[in-house]
Amino acid sequence: MTHWVGITGGIGSGKSTATALFADHGVPVIDTDIIARELTVSHGAAIPALRQTFGDALIDDAGSLKRPEMRRLMLAHPTAKQQLEAVLHPLIREETYRQQTLFQAAYGLIAVPLLAESPYFQALVERVLVIDCPEDLQIARIIQRNGLSEAEAHALLAAQTTRAHRLSIADDVIENDADLIHLQQEVTRLHQFYTELFSDGTH
Ligand code: ADP
Repeated sequence: MTHWVGITGGIGSGKSTATALFADHGVPVIDTDIIARELTVSHGAAIPALRQTFGDALIDDAGSLKRPEMRRLMLAHPTAKQQLEAVLHPLIREETYRQQTLFQAAYGLIAVPLLAESPYFQALVERVLVIDCPEDLQIARIIQRNGLSEAEAHALLAAQTTRAHRLSIADDVIENDADLIHLQQEVTRLHQFYTELFSDGTH
């Protein structure tokens, strides 16, 4: 049986980079962001329910969710976010369960960017790994990566939960506040820790 660790972090913390470094060690990864996207593209499994909830105006001619319109609707009507999550979260969880059965390894990672905001997904994992870094570094990284202004970067951070709250759900933390070599070393250290922790002979 494979054990599952949830990996999360604020925007720009380096969670995608860290996840890729675990994958380099051969660790299976299930990415809930990718699952959410696949559910909402043309012929995605969530489209019929989204059409029923929000009407035709939010679905384009190809049958995909219109993301910018959805974002606007959520800003104008906070209940729309709850309605969207009520459709998507059970489907994401179902697909995650399905993918969990595909792997045979001591442990795997489930990447859930909003794990701290969505306790619903915490039940999928045995441990939580938070990729953490100071907010000024998060801001600098997303300005550089996404070409945003400092104000836009601050707004993105403000829309997420606080660093303190995210850390409060962590079993393990990687401080990604130095260079990539340091991150790589931290991933290797935790990979060894998890491999030992989960080598219980049940897989
Ligand atoms: P997230 O997935 O948490 O939003 P990413 O893994 O995409 O964050 O990292 C954000 C940006 O910062 C990327 O451009 C990535 O290459 C860079 N980055 C992440 N960690 C480091 C690091 N330790 N040193 C230098 N750049 C980093």
